[in-house]
Amino acid sequence: MQFEEDSVASASYLKQAVPLMVQRQIPTNPVNFALWYSHVKNASQELSERLLFEFPAAGTYDPKKSQQLFYDYFVRDHLPEQDETQGAVAELLSQLFDTVNKATEGTSQYSESLKNTIAAVQNTDDPKEVQKALSNLLRDTDAVNRLTQDFQSHLVEARKEVENLKQQLQESEQTALLDELTQIGNRRAFDQTIDRCLQDSSQPTSLLLLDLDHFKKCNDTYGHVTGDRILEEVGDILSGIREANIHPMRYGGEEFAVICEQPAEQAAQLAETIREKVTTISVRQAETGEIINDISVSVGVSQASAEDSADSLKERADKALYQAKENGRNRVEMG
Ligand code: GH3
Ligand code: MG
Ligand code: MG
Repeated sequence: MQFEEDSVASASYLKQAVPLMVQRQIPTNPVNFALWYSHVKNASQELSERLLFEFPAAGTYDPKKSQQLFYDYFVRDHLPEQDETQGAVAELLSQLFDTVNKATEGTSQYSESLKNTIAAVQNTDDPKEVQKALSNLLRDTDAVNRLTQDFQSHLVEARKEVENLKQQLQESEQTALLDELTQIGNRRAFDQTIDRCLQDSSQPTSLLLLDLDHFKKCNDTYGHVTGDRILEEVGDILSGIREANIHPMRYGGEEFAVICEQPAEQAAQLAETIREKVTTISVRQAETGEIINDISVSVGVSQASAEDSADSLKERADKALYQAKENGRNRVEMG
């Protein structure tokens, strides 16, 4: 839900929303206000229909239904996909909603109590009656004070909880983009980064696709565990070349990619550096003690033109990689 109207328009929505709420005796708390404001703004036909269906007239108000509508139209779209965090956010909102309701309920009772005290003081000359009214008011003042203190501390707690959830969310977003084995970006990170780079026309975009040579044989000969160790070593090499404009990723299996916000010549130099470094990998096979030091990688490089999409750029790099394999592996080819 977006609120981009200026103060004149929003004042007009306010003038329309409040009478609708008052007619229906709907507490003017922020949650309800958001719903009725959006209704008069025609923000969502579906929300308007549900709102008028649930609360057609005075006496139909139900805070739980209001809370559900608020959740459906204001909260759900902004929630992360993770069920656990979503549940936690929903729980937190529901607690907050209850607290807001209690606090506003308490203050409306208090204004009732104030009104009664004023009436009592105005209508009597009996100092005893006045004293009684004042001590009632004092009692209610204490009660509302406790209520608002409670409300305050609930808000402080809720704030901490929101901070926690935000942090958790940031962490889970980061891990969702990391490859577990090599600790560099994964395929998802690749897709995001290439789209971002291609949209930014202020920098050239080059792509390196890397594929380890005869890796199946390597796995078959030394085992999968040793294969994984080699992939980790390649990951370390790629982490080492990372810069603000150089984004290494594990594309999948024994294939890696580097998105490079540089022209093809520099990208080719980078490819050559990586190829060279991979030949220096040395891994000791745990059971036999054998040293494996004949690892190599083939690389295809392409530079994006203005017409390129992620797919066409990948296709050219992939063709170049195929050429590198055809031409004897352990080499860099341009596409
Ligand atoms: P080429 O030089 O033509 O690329 O030959 P290749 O053997 O590397 O190519 P192929 O695609 O036939 O085999 C890739 C192998 O990579 C198959 C699979 O065993 C291995 N592999 C893929 N992912 C992993 C992984 O996560 N860990 C390990 N240890 N091996 C993997
Ligand atoms: Mg492969
Ligand atoms: Mg391979």
